[in-house]
Amino acid sequence: MSRFFNGDLSALSAYVPGEQPKDAEFIKLNTNESPYPPSAGVLKAAEEEAKKLRLYSDPDGRNLRKALAENYEVRPENIVLGNGSDEILSFCFQAFGGSGAEFIFPDITYGFYPVFAKLYGVKFSEMPLDERLFINPDDYIGKNKNIIIANPNAPSGIYMELDIIEKIAATNPDNVVIIDEAYIDFGGESAAKLINKYDNLIVVQTFSKSRSLAGARLGYAITNSALADDLNKIRCSTNPYNVNRITLAAGEAAIREQDYYDENCKKIIETREWTKEKLKALNFSFPESFANFIFAKRDGAKGAFLYNELRKRKILVRHFNNEKISDYLRITVGSREEMEALICALSDIIKEGDELK
Ligand SMILES: *Cc1c(COP(=O)(O)O)cnc(C)c1O
Repeated sequence: MSRFFNGDLSALSAYVPGEQPKDAEFIKLNTNESPYPPSAGVLKAAEEEAKKLRLYSDPDGRNLRKALAENYEVRPENIVLGNGSDEILSFCFQAFGGSGAEFIFPDITYGFYPVFAKLYGVKFSEMPLDERLFINPDDYIGKNKNIIIANPNAPSGIYMELDIIEKIAATNPDNVVIIDEAYIDFGGESAAKLINKYDNLIVVQTFSKSRSLAGARLGYAITNSALADDLNKIRCSTNPYNVNRITLAAGEAAIREQDYYDENCKKIIETREWTKEKLKALNFSFPESFANFIFAKRDGAKGAFLYNELRKRKILVRHFNNEKISDYLRITVGSREEMEALICALSDIIKEGDELK
């Protein structure tokens, strides 16, 4: 830190993203990307749009918002676009933080929430998950606080039924309730259909996980037009061209080819269920995942040990240095071949471990 750095932020520790190795020698199961490429129409649209890079992007992202609105049966004014859903979340903390406001979220969840809260000086409390890593709905019902919940939650993969989300929105009418649905396309039901019923509800989604566009950086909020205006006020006070031209075109093409991505999600769910069975056979346990990852542990095997052994075998998974979950590995569901390699490597590691005993 230089002596010029904002003293109010000196205690800030930045979000640490999963490793992105430069070479392709690793099987990458650490950042929940899709194993499948973007659809043909997306690649074509991106290539065409590149020819127009001389010009600024549409600051209103009109074509993409229209396509998304049709997809979710809402109006374009219900959609706010972000440079990844991370940016939408950042806008939320800025727009609804302020003095006196307080956010609550689970103690084990997406690591960016406390980082944003600290960056913007927003008060927050972390509600502990139970020992099975479930959210206790009572922690959020009628609390008169701003709420942010990832559903399915990360890194547990546990999905909360929509009627509980609805109850949380209904019983906190004077606060925003933000549902981060980064993984909703892998088996859950979106709360997007509730935005006209609850004027405090913001649903956040992304093109990074189910639509194979992590590198394009595209996320969005689905909410009522008043909350959308608030988020857009922050967006336009930060960077009105926050989503670049190529990404806007790619996103629109992806929505037009939604069938391809639905098919990919189906494949990923099948591979997830296959992997669960294989992991069970190796004595791993995990909460029921509704996401494109499995949060697994094995009695007697340290998470860090398994992580390192897999890494030696050129397989990257995610391990968190948080005491409550340090025994677990978060394993992205890749292609069937990648998961076969993972199971093979884990069998090896376990066999060697048993022989050492
Ligand atoms: C991956 C992820 C995001 C961020 O996604 P981007 O759209 O790539 O910024 C947000 N929330 C959760 C829970 C995630 O896992």
